[in-house]
Amino acid sequence: MRKALVIGNWKQNGSIASVKALADSVVSSCLDESVDVAVCPAALHLPVVAPLLGDAIALGAQDVSEYSGGAYTGQISAAMLVETGCQYVLVGHSERRALCAESSVAVGVKAKSALGSGLTPVVCVGETLDERKANQTEAVIFEQLDGFFSALGSDELTQCVIAYEPVWAIGSGLSASAEQAGEVHAAIRTKLESYAAGSGAVIRILYGGSVKPGNAAEIFAQPDVDGGLIGGAALDAADFSAIVSAASGSGE
Ligand code: PEP
Repeated sequence: MRKALVIGNWKQNGSIASVKALADSVVSSCLDESVDVAVCPAALHLPVVAPLLGDAIALGAQDVSEYSGGAYTGQISAAMLVETGCQYVLVGHSERRALCAESSVAVGVKAKSALGSGLTPVVCVGETLDERKANQTEAVIFEQLDGFFSALGSDELTQCVIAYEPVWAIGSGLSASAEQAGEVHAAIRTKLESYAAGSGAVIRILYGGSVKPGNAAEIFAQPDVDGGLIGGAALDAADFSAIVSAASGSGE
């Protein structure tokens, strides 16, 4: 019922030439039909990458405006992303929460704006190391989910993807163990179910944070993990394709 999904977040990396080469390699190496695959280049690279992806790989953006249009200098609306070929958009990545002071409610408004234009929002949540050490992991994530959900209706919730990304695992080389990921994913699924009956069974929950070819299969084997949001390893087509292969058959 939940098809595995692997998304590469290319962040603020690459040149026009290098993202074209990366997109071509991803297209030729990620051929597994049992996994949905998407890549999220920097906004300026979206129209460069879009025509190279074909039908097999979807395009995603790394952020979207809360607003549908008008005097919002520097912002990019959901409709603009759709026109450029996007199907997915990341919202609430921890780097944006930290660097751009994005609140959980703002993340929910962005998700709503994305859904209004037909994009699938990938809503990122996760705790810092201090919060984990203080046994606050669940409380922090539930607060992030509450804020996000306050902007949405139940019908809209089921159209979202959630990404659990422990902040301490992002770009650190220190992944959550499969057991840690499985525990938090199960808690998120129960929480989603409390917002809307049936939603826990259908919403895909991805794990992100130092996923590599060597640890992907173990993490994706957890029953509540439906794939991954991949940063550093997504910049290497061979690593990314190995991670996509590891997700094959991990959907429910
Ligand atoms: C991310 O930034 O979403 C991420 C998961 O990064 P990395 O895989 O490099 O930890």
